[in-house]
Amino acid sequence: MTIKILSRALSLASTLFVCAAAVAGPFDIPANVQTVAKAQITAGALEAPIRFLASDALEGRGPATRGDALARLYLAAELQSLGYLPGGEKGGWEQTVDVVGTTAQLPAAWSFAGKNGKVDLKLSDDYIAGSGVQTPGAAINDAALVFVGYGIEAPEYKWDDFKGVDVKGKVLVMLNNDPDWDPKLFAGKTRLYYGRWVYKYESAARHGAAGVIIVHTTASAGYPWQVVQSSWGGEQFELPAEGEPRIQLKGWATEDAARRLVKAGGQDLDKLIAAAKSRSFKPVPLALRTSISFDNKVSRVRTANVAGVLPGSDPKLREQVVIYSAHHDHFGIGEPDETGDTIYNGAEDNASGCAQVLAIARAMAALPERPRRSILMLFVAGEEQGLLGSRYYSLHPTFAPGKIAANINYDGGDYRGRTLDLTAIGYGKSSLDGIARALVEKQGRTLVPDQFPDRGYFYRSDQFNFAKIGVPALYFDNGTNYLGKPAGWGRERAEQWEEHVYHQPSDEIDDTWVFDGMIEDASVGFYAGWLVAQADAMPTWNPGDEFEAARKKALAH
Ligand SMILES: [Zn+2]
Repeated sequence: MTIKILSRALSLASTLFVCAAAVAGPFDIPANVQTVAKAQITAGALEAPIRFLASDALEGRGPATRGDALARLYLAAELQSLGYLPGGEKGGWEQTVDVVGTTAQLPAAWSFAGKNGKVDLKLSDDYIAGSGVQTPGAAINDAALVFVGYGIEAPEYKWDDFKGVDVKGKVLVMLNNDPDWDPKLFAGKTRLYYGRWVYKYESAARHGAAGVIIVHTTASAGYPWQVVQSSWGGEQFELPAEGEPRIQLKGWATEDAARRLVKAGGQDLDKLIAAAKSRSFKPVPLALRTSISFDNKVSRVRTANVAGVLPGSDPKLREQVVIYSAHHDHFGIGEPDETGDTIYNGAEDNASGCAQVLAIARAMAALPERPRRSILMLFVAGEEQGLLGSRYYSLHPTFAPGKIAANINYDGGDYRGRTLDLTAIGYGKSSLDGIARALVEKQGRTLVPDQFPDRGYFYRSDQFNFAKIGVPALYFDNGTNYLGKPAGWGRERAEQWEEHVYHQPSDEIDDTWVFDGMIEDASVGFYAGWLVAQADAMPTWNPGDEFEAARKKALAH
């Protein structure tokens, strides 16, 4: 406790903000707004929600469990007590999110007939798949295979792997990732949405394909085959189908299996990969046909997003909104760890994100004058099952996408102390950068981009679903350079955490947690959202960004 008080007293942030106010700049925060932030975004305001949400009593907040219901009730009650209005369906605090689970009972071998003979791919060793449909069975009947390169259509990069070729009813063989050898193409090494498997399956569905086989290599996936095996081996969760096009099967094959497969189809994998690295690539038919059918175990459960609105003060701008988000779900009760603990408390992931959004909600509500734009606090469901709550919100938004000024997402929070840096996942994509950078610099710190750009973190938390409907979005993640700690300490701790705590029962709050860093990080988000809510114009994507087209479409409506 003494340490916490001492480090707060040493806080640079307060003095820096007061100095900055003397010279008026576009990102200055008025003194009365800073006063509110300091009074509301406190250690207690952050710690209390984490203690509650991550307690064993909430049983890990697994979707559709009693712990889930209690977490939602608590979040709605907090918002109501702060003066927010219900922002959910039918005048309530919740937006229902139905979740469908499918477990595909795949055949032990998947057979292909090729011009150079027959190939059997062994389940798990050679191929793995999930069902693309939510029905009790899925089937592909005598479909031809086509190699479609990366399976990407990106007008902003003048890239089209399909070239108008009809691939309806076919099984598409695709490369993972996106073109990464040229910094001017698909942001170089940074993995864009086009490089993610979700995009590949959606792209195939849009073309009416029957199925997809993504060729796995560790380099292109960013993770080994075992990760594909374990993440696709069990139940897969989705939102209920709403009549959108769907493929029957979402598959993966090892590089070795893909090599054998295309060889049986009269082609050489290396030559196909080389051909795919060109804008002039055209789909290559493989002399291969296949049939596969399997049963699905289908389950349906119900959870909900929690939403509260603080209406804006400007009669016109109040139709527009700044959305803060944090997922409230975690894994519930599951496999015991080595200590026998079965409760996946999710203290950091993501009770700490909920706590930061609640603290920001507190500060917004306590302002002497309401922000001009409205503020929506959105606690989304089912993130751990594939960003389901935020996806549902993006498909059924309570404010039109063109009226959503920005999304600021929190997934995790810093409980190790103050850092000299703050990570902005999504840095380099929109005008939110300038705002966040100015704010972080006024705290005497540096804003840094995603430290692992090849892992595609921007696409792995809820802000991504806002970006997909065109909303400029940022997700603040911990810094690594801790004040008063030796160089490398932060990274080391982050790596240890990833190995021993992430998504394990040991993600719990204890007395080693300190909140001075989290206070600063949450304050940045509060000030950033306040600035966005006050500004005459809404934030914009950087020209040529992958989500710019979606924004233009949203603003035209
Ligand atoms: Zn999370």
